[in-house]
Amino acid sequence: ENLSNFSSPRDGVVISRFGKSADVEDNARHIYRCSIRRTLPSLVTGDKVVWRESLEPNTNGIIEAVHTRHSELVRPDFYDGVKPVAANVDQIVIISAVLPELSLNIIDRYLVACEVTNIEPIIVLNKIDLLSDEQRAEVEKQLTIYTNIGYQVLYVSCQNHQGIAALQAVLQNKISILVGQSGVGKSSIINLLLPHQLQSAITGNISELSGLGQHTTTSTRLYHLPNGGDIIDSPGIREFGLWHLEPEQVISGFKEFDDYLGGCQFRDCNHLDTPGCLLQQAVRDGKISPSRLDNYHRILQTMKEVKARTNKS
Ligand code: GDP
Repeated sequence: ENLSNFSSPRDGVVISRFGKSADVEDNARHIYRCSIRRTLPSLVTGDKVVWRESLEPNTNGIIEAVHTRHSELVRPDFYDGVKPVAANVDQIVIISAVLPELSLNIIDRYLVACEVTNIEPIIVLNKIDLLSDEQRAEVEKQLTIYTNIGYQVLYVSCQNHQGIAALQAVLQNKISILVGQSGVGKSSIINLLLPHQLQSAITGNISELSGLGQHTTTSTRLYHLPNGGDIIDSPGIREFGLWHLEPEQVISGFKEFDDYLGGCQFRDCNHLDTPGCLLQQAVRDGKISPSRLDNYHRILQTMKEVKARTNKS
């Protein structure tokens, strides 16, 4: 292309991707629809790029280069194996709730995904308005499993806004995503965090932003929090799970197991019924929570079942 029609190169962030083009935001928070130079690898929301603005009206800018990602979320793609969906995420906020049910197994699955992708997890328990003082104390006791091994746990309610300010403080100046099962309150929390913005972006028209028509209903997008920091959100990302992991990676996601694995190695231990297993000893000694070792085995079991099913078909 003829670069005389473009500005000099500038820094920007990909806030959304559409097929062969992307919306790039500059430091002044203006958004520009850009084409992507063909030699570049596939870009995703959160990518930091070098781009040039088009000097002709109603014409795409061009993204010329992409900076190395410090983190990457991937999901399996039917055709391509795994496919990146977001880049440079700092934190994964794992939303759980007392209703429909508090599932430590699901929390552990997300924690494994966080550890393996090397992104900081934050555990949030929503709907605490539904708990009596007694029940609240019970749940807090249960979740000390996580605070004891160094994870941050926050208690919030979208109903009476308890804990929302603390959550906002944790999100400040970081790029975060929210994940969790259907019904735990992710949409409710996002609506509290991003007043008006999300609605207009999801139901609105990108032409307002970039001067180029195209709807953005379901794509992954980066949103700015009012007090600094960003959220990357999309329906696909909210369901982010463990699909791309190999069974050998799972144990490394249980970070407190690490101290005990060395002694098990030479025995080829399955950490289930091998005599002298140090992990099981640690559970008996109260150093590791029984639910953590149990969930480790349940996750492996599920992965085996999924593998067997996909190999058959
Ligand atoms: P999502 O599927 O994770 O996005 O969950 P939603 O945000 O759609 O919430 C599911 C249901 O839980 C809705 O009926 C919400 O009104 C309700 N809900 C969300 N947050 C709270 C809360 O803090 N307390 C109570 N009591 N209900 C909530």
